[in-house]
Amino acid sequence: RIAYVNGRYVPHGQASVHIEDRGFQFADGVYEVVTIVAGRLADEQGHLTRLARSLKELSIPWPVKPRTLRMIITEMVRRNRAVNAQLYIQITRGAAPRDFRFPVNPAPTLVITCRRTAFQPPALLDKGIAVVTMPDIRWQRRDIKSVSLLPQVMGKQKAHEAGAFEGWMVDDEGQVTEGCSSNAWIVTADGVLVTRQPSNAILNGITRLSILEVAREQGIGFQERPFTVAEALAAREAFISSATTFALPVTRIDGQMIGDGRPGPLGRRLRRAYMDHLGVADPL
Ligand code: PMP
Repeated sequence: RIAYVNGRYVPHGQASVHIEDRGFQFADGVYEVVTIVAGRLADEQGHLTRLARSLKELSIPWPVKPRTLRMIITEMVRRNRAVNAQLYIQITRGAAPRDFRFPVNPAPTLVITCRRTAFQPPALLDKGIAVVTMPDIRWQRRDIKSVSLLPQVMGKQKAHEAGAFEGWMVDDEGQVTEGCSSNAWIVTADGVLVTRQPSNAILNGITRLSILEVAREQGIGFQERPFTVAEALAAREAFISSATTFALPVTRIDGQMIGDGRPGPLGRRLRRAYMDHLGVADPL
C-alpha cells in the first residue's frame, strides 16, 4: 500500500506529516473521498470541483496545480492496483509555528491514501439500515468539506452504540440537515422525492448531485427542501447518499419502521440509475 505525501510516494506505514501541521493542530484543512469502482474513479470531476471550492472558501492555496493532482491520483490508483477502493485526499494549510493567524507563506500539505474496500455487505441493501436522529451541533459553514469532524465522530459513535448505521442531524427548527457522513433523502407519504437544498447548512454531496441529475434524466420529480423528523417517520421510503454508500436504503429511524420496513422501490431505482451513470455494475 502506497501513500502520497507532499511530492513523494511512500509505503503507507511510513507516511507522516510534521507535528506542527495546521491540520493536526487546528483542523485547518479540507478533504475529499473518491470511491474507485472496478478501477474507475466515481464522480472524480465533481469531487475535484468541490475540493477547489473548499480551498477557496478557506483561502488555502493549491499545493499543486489541479492538473497535477489528477496525475497524482491516477498514479495512486496505478501504484495501489486499486480496483474497489476509497481514495482519500487531504489538503491542509501546512506546517508552521503554532499561531491562529494564517502563515505568511503557507506551503500546504497534500496527503493521499488509498484503501481497498469490500463495500457494504449485501445484507445492508436487502434489509436497509437504521438511523438515529440527534441535534446538529456543528458550525455554520457545513458547505465546506473541512477535516473538523468532531461532531460527526461523536454522532457516528452514538449511532453505532444505538445499533444504527448512521446519525441524522437535526437543526434548531426540527428539520433534518443531513447524515453524519451522508445526505438524507425521503419519499414522502404522497410519493414525492425530497432532499434538503444546498446551503451553508449542509455539505452538497457529489453523490447527491449525481442522483438528482439521474432523477431529472429519468423524469422523476423531486423537491429540494428541508423535512422534519416527523415527516421522515411518516415517509414511504428513506435513504442516504454518499461517495462510499452510493444510495443506501433506510428502513428504521429512531427505532421506528419506515414504510413497510423494507427498502423502497424509488431508492432502489435511483441506486441502479446512479450505478449506470458511473458506468459500473453494483459492487454489492
Ligand atoms: N454530508 C456529509 C456531512 C458528509 O460527510 C458526506 C460525505 N463525505 C456527505 C454529505 C456526502 O457527500 P458525497 O456524496 O460527496 O460523499
